[in-house]
Amino acid sequence: MHPLARLDHRHVWHPFTQMRDWLKSEPIVLVKGRGTVLEDVHGRRFLDANSSIWTNLHGHRNPAIDRALRRQLSQVAHTSSLGFASAPASELASELIRRARGPKGQPRLEKVFFSDDGSTAIEAALKLASEHSRRAGITKKPRFLSLQGAYHGDTVGAVSVGHIDLFHRTWKPLLFPTDAVMAPYCYRCPFNRAKPERADARTWRKCGWECVSKVEDRFAKATRAGKPYTAFIVEPAIQGAAGMVPQPEGWLPRVAEIARAHRALLIADEVMTGFGRTGTGFRSGPRFHTFAAQRQGVVPDLVAVAKGLTGGYLPMAATLATQEVFDSFLGDYTEFRTFFHGHSYTGNQLGAAASLASLALLADPAGVARRRALEERLARRLELLWRHPQVGDIRREGLVVGVELVRDWRTREPIPLEQRAGIRVCEAMSRRGVLTRPIGSVVVLMPPYCTTPTQLDRMVSALDEAVAEVFPRGA
Ligand SMILES: *Cc1c(COP(=O)(O)O)cnc(C)c1O
Repeated sequence: MHPLARLDHRHVWHPFTQMRDWLKSEPIVLVKGRGTVLEDVHGRRFLDANSSIWTNLHGHRNPAIDRALRRQLSQVAHTSSLGFASAPASELASELIRRARGPKGQPRLEKVFFSDDGSTAIEAALKLASEHSRRAGITKKPRFLSLQGAYHGDTVGAVSVGHIDLFHRTWKPLLFPTDAVMAPYCYRCPFNRAKPERADARTWRKCGWECVSKVEDRFAKATRAGKPYTAFIVEPAIQGAAGMVPQPEGWLPRVAEIARAHRALLIADEVMTGFGRTGTGFRSGPRFHTFAAQRQGVVPDLVAVAKGLTGGYLPMAATLATQEVFDSFLGDYTEFRTFFHGHSYTGNQLGAAASLASLALLADPAGVARRRALEERLARRLELLWRHPQVGDIRREGLVVGVELVRDWRTREPIPLEQRAGIRVCEAMSRRGVLTRPIGSVVVLMPPYCTTPTQLDRMVSALDEAVAEVFPRGA
């Protein structure tokens, strides 16, 4: 075993990992990267097929971001927004707000609160929403509604609004109570309204937006009971950790309107979906938007961003807020209406410099055209996977893919988690030089935007071969 791998085994505790399994084999020790390629201590090369856990946008060692960081290093690495302003943080806040504009009639985001990661950006949004709502006389007690299968991070507040039983049930005694409402999951639609992905047309019935009615009922019930919701938290366009589950077009504007009618704030968790990840247009729309909610004409009252903000270089996050929310915290010093919340690294200058360079790359029209071509190629290549009876659903939103493995596509019967189907397929992919992680039985592909057509084809082929290897005679 390489000495570095041995050191890891001795002292490093990895997140979301059964360490007994981890300690059984030599870990891949990554030492270098360029573009979509990562290299380990033994000189083996891999494709980064999940953008280093959904963070990287433009590739590793991107020349423009590297240059921006070197320039910033020649000035100063870190000063804090706690007490001081800085050039990159001010510029970044203004860039984010400029890109978050939506159509008339939607709220206007005006203010940016910086933090460190997705969880802290959500945490700030929850506190802002609950205090704003109380001060505005809308709700006395904070009450949050979020979606079934939701994942919003791992700090205690973020876990409280999460609804993935496997991750969240352990922490129940630590959490504040929140409500969950049905999220669209067309492949497993309980009303059997989903359009089957294969030729089985007889079971198909037209969608009646039952999942929207569920949201409406929930809000109506809360309002009738005199316990209205403070805020409704959603991942717009696609729920990531729920298993890459996209929402049908039209779902978000409908539920946003319902939340507004009941005076609840809309909090968008764009930690995964932001910065072009979920596509150059909603399904087929022609324009590029920075945020997924915006693509559907929705501007939330609060938006959390993190993962791709810095292009995947540094831990930095932000919570965008409207003027109304901001104004709730204004007052004389002695009224103590201050937002008493913040972190040491708030507004980190290196992070802000990387973010500005990443945002500039994102808007480049040639880059947008390249991403669109990559999305189209990905859609075509994925068709290859239907040949496996264990491929139940192929879900794609922009450059985000979830392939749901099942016992048999005809019955949609899930594979029990104990069989570790997703993990085994990803291990087989890694032996073919392609790195990604599953979510249960859903294999994720999320290529960085700089991925070449050949590299993209290799990612899909590795998945195709891995499924064949893991299920030689069916599940
Ligand atoms: C990853 C993620 C988070 C948490 O972000 P961290 O940076 O890991 O704290 C929150 N929400 C969504 C949708 C995410 O994908």
